[in-house]
Amino acid sequence: MTPSSPAARLRQVRERIAAAATEAGRDPASVRLLAVSKTFPAEAVAELAACGQADFGENYVQEGLGKMAALRATHPQLGWHFIGPLQSNKTREVAAQFDWVHAVDRLHIAQRLSAQRPAARNGSPLSPLQLCIQVNISGEGSKSGIAPEAVAELAHAVAVLPNLRLRGLMCIPAPAEGLQAQRAPFARLRRLLAELNRQGLALDTLSMGMSADLEAAVLEGATLVRVGTALFGARVARQTAQV
Ligand SMILES: *Cc1c(COP(=O)(O)O)cnc(C)c1O
Repeated sequence: MTPSSPAARLRQVRERIAAAATEAGRDPASVRLLAVSKTFPAEAVAELAACGQADFGENYVQEGLGKMAALRATHPQLGWHFIGPLQSNKTREVAAQFDWVHAVDRLHIAQRLSAQRPAARNGSPLSPLQLCIQVNISGEGSKSGIAPEAVAELAHAVAVLPNLRLRGLMCIPAPAEGLQAQRAPFARLRRLLAELNRQGLALDTLSMGMSADLEAAVLEGATLVRVGTALFGARVARQTAQV
């Protein structure tokens, strides 16, 4: 059952993360919780922020920018993560306003984000844009993400771009039933990250696991889980395609 208050939902998700981390012999604090607020209003973000939630994820550029504009003055400390597919005509706004981008799968997009990341925002110096490369870990033809065989070449090219910091890998596996089936793709992503680290890249982030499979992801080493439904409730389907 999903509890009705935001505070209770947040507590339940944190308990799920902590239980899986403990089972894996990991410190629960090593898993960052990203609250995916897409389709929910700024008020819902503010409510969860009041319970102590610090990081929020958005899939659609204009929707995310609207919430940031509404909340920047009252909640300047929140971290904003862009987790949706990114078109090149939207990179400038994302580079200027977001702190993280999770779903980069082309060098062209990373180059634009690097060139367009400002040095400052509202007079304060801006840290580099934190980046993850999305991997098509289940090999689905229709899905975004780079093929596992091509990750290393892209990662080495992205890692040298200025104004960005490549942090790691992200995936959205095909839905699977049962813990063992859910763990397999996450284990593949973990091994890919380890291989990149062996090649000399200092990457520390595995962005994997959502409401339905976060335990499997944490058991396989997720350092950041992206959770929407379990924190905000079910989403109403979007009426029109929007990026
Ligand atoms: C919507 C979304 C999530 C959250 O999914 P839930 O199943 O609602 O937890 C996580 N990651 C990405 C990339 C998403 O688009």
